[in-house]
Amino acid sequence: MSAAINNIEIQKAKTSKISSIDFDNLSFGKVFSDHMLLCVYKDGMWQLPKVVPYQPITLDPSSKIFHYGQSVFEGLKAYKDTDENIWLFRPEDNFRRLNISSKRLSIPELPEDYFMAGLKTLLQVDRDWIPKSEGSSLYIRPFVFASGNGFHASPADEYMFIIATAPSGSYFSGKLKVLIEQTYSRSANGGVGFAKAGGNYAGQFYPTQLAVEKGYQQVIWTDDTTHEYIEEAGAMNIFVRINDTLITAPISDRILDGITRRSILEIAKTENIPVEVRKISVKEVVEASKNGTLKEMFGAGTAAVISPIAAFGHEDKDYDLPTLENSYGALLKKRITDIQTNKSEDPFGWRV
Ligand code: PMP
Repeated sequence: MSAAINNIEIQKAKTSKISSIDFDNLSFGKVFSDHMLLCVYKDGMWQLPKVVPYQPITLDPSSKIFHYGQSVFEGLKAYKDTDENIWLFRPEDNFRRLNISSKRLSIPELPEDYFMAGLKTLLQVDRDWIPKSEGSSLYIRPFVFASGNGFHASPADEYMFIIATAPSGSYFSGKLKVLIEQTYSRSANGGVGFAKAGGNYAGQFYPTQLAVEKGYQQVIWTDDTTHEYIEEAGAMNIFVRINDTLITAPISDRILDGITRRSILEIAKTENIPVEVRKISVKEVVEASKNGTLKEMFGAGTAAVISPIAAFGHEDKDYDLPTLENSYGALLKKRITDIQTNKSEDPFGWRV
């Protein structure tokens, strides 16, 4: 699986859209760079990837992606430092997770070099699209889906792997108000929750919509069996600080193994923050809020890095989180973004 490629074919766009983009007012994932990486799986193998102009793709109505949802994706970011160097954060982890997701969805796994060399070539071609301003970055969306045809409910024989990129500003603005979800589940034991499968997100929209109608922005997912343990915050991993201990749920079949989560756990150790990876019950969080020991809750993920939670709703009651001067969330966000943007040393060797 480690076929090396020396040269990636580049088909340049005839004109660039870049002058029409307002880089000072970027929203998240709404405008797309001039090029994309395209790689096709057919005749039983992945064909060489190419950089091509960003463009619509044509699919047959019977393509299996439309019917059986064979699709997986990733999300990472490229940053530019003041010397115009381009940095990625732990991209091999995204590559590995993409293949873990693909395997679960019976999608053929990609050779590492197709992903890594393909990504680096694409970023060189579109390097002017990587924003430099504080809080902005080039959001990178690698995805694989079944382009092969037929109504038979079985894996497709053709796939497409695409990397598209979008210069982006921040994902959420401000603090989140979240609802602890105890009716719907995003994942189950033996299911696909640990994979970044498109359908996982489709299944989240309706319960999230119900929460939005009640005045919340996101839901906190609980385990599907008892709904008594908190697991994720929307499309982010969740951290809870009780007294001085930072707690996060253990990875399982139901929880995505987030790269931000994993990085936070390592940084916290070096900052001498006491960390526990264990089940966190809804009861414990509610009790801690009532007795004043619940100091912080935040979501962690690539898009928003760390999203502080200002309040959570549970059984028709809202619980406010205090505003802290020395929050772990703020400290960890600074440490991680300083590493990502080359503003600090990288003792972990995460920057590429
Ligand atoms: N959980 C879910 C369900 C997600 O979609 C994401 C975003 N990829 C995360 C957690 C955070 O993962 P990462 O830190 O790798 O972005």
